[in-house]
Amino acid sequence: MRCVIVDLEATDGSHHFFWQHFDPSHPRHDPALAGPWGGTIERVYETCDRELGRLIDAYAPDTVFVVSDHGGGPSRDYALFMNDWLEAEGFLTVQRKASASVAKHAYTTALKHLSHPFKQRLQPLFGRFIERAKGLALFGDVDWSRTRAYGTVQSMVRLNLAGREPEGTVSAEERDGVLAELAERARGRTFPDGLPLFTNVARAEEVYDVDGAVPGLPDLVVEPQVGTEVRGRNTSGKPGFLLPLKDLGVWYPSGEHTPVGLVVAAGAGIARQGEVPETHIQQVAPSVLAVMGVPAPALPMGPFPFVSASLVSSGAAVGSMTTGGGELTEDEEADVLERLRGLGYVS
Ligand SMILES: [Zn+2]
Repeated sequence: MRCVIVDLEATDGSHHFFWQHFDPSHPRHDPALAGPWGGTIERVYETCDRELGRLIDAYAPDTVFVVSDHGGGPSRDYALFMNDWLEAEGFLTVQRKASASVAKHAYTTALKHLSHPFKQRLQPLFGRFIERAKGLALFGDVDWSRTRAYGTVQSMVRLNLAGREPEGTVSAEERDGVLAELAERARGRTFPDGLPLFTNVARAEEVYDVDGAVPGLPDLVVEPQVGTEVRGRNTSGKPGFLLPLKDLGVWYPSGEHTPVGLVVAAGAGIARQGEVPETHIQQVAPSVLAVMGVPAPALPMGPFPFVSASLVSSGAAVGSMTTGGGELTEDEEADVLERLRGLGYVS
């Protein structure tokens, strides 16, 4: 029994980097560049198809699933800064302090100057420093005693809940009221052309079928219009929480993620059904387990409708696991700082 998982990530990057050349209606489309670059996304897909074919030939698997976790589409060419939006709505208070702005500066400088592959190479040590600097850049100047909610770089909001957050201000009794107030504000916000800023505003319990105590779970999910670039904090120096990308003077992708991906399957345990209605991403794991005949705990969803193999129940409930680590030792921290000094990011 063997399962080989391969991540072909180039399709994702091709959407982000080349959408404006491929799509004549994109605000950043330049016909002169469409000649050499307009067919890039298609070429990337052809290459992935070819590589997938080589892998299938090499492994000769009984069953193949091809799954994407999202789709791609044009950017709206607007950036939404979550915490600046919460500040504008009166839910978050920023107290500008020198120390926080130094961290913010170090973080934005490091991000600007480090190439992506370089950041990845330094991941084990440097990645955690970046995460910490990111935390400082996002929240280092937040006055938590006057903050009721905060956001991350995702389109989700967490309440500054007393008992859960270190300096929580919202009591358990107030939770409902604060969430209702924030949801109402979110529903009233629009783009300058009048289009609603958010297409969906929902409490986490309406979106996620998990225990509310799961670490990091948002309290409110606010989905902006598809194609909106979501960021944590506005560090551009230009005021506002919703800015056209062309005003920011930095590079942003011309393609963004869209909610619907694709799934294709063939081989043993798969019934040929042609095109099927939309399915759910949580059906991937049960489908693979069913095809492989691996007993599974009580998963919230069953296999895809085109999987003919039946899921074998182990009779157990779904458990959870946590991974260790996270904090740097003093030696590691000194090492990271030394490297950052060498690179000129901290002095
Ligand atoms: Zn992506």
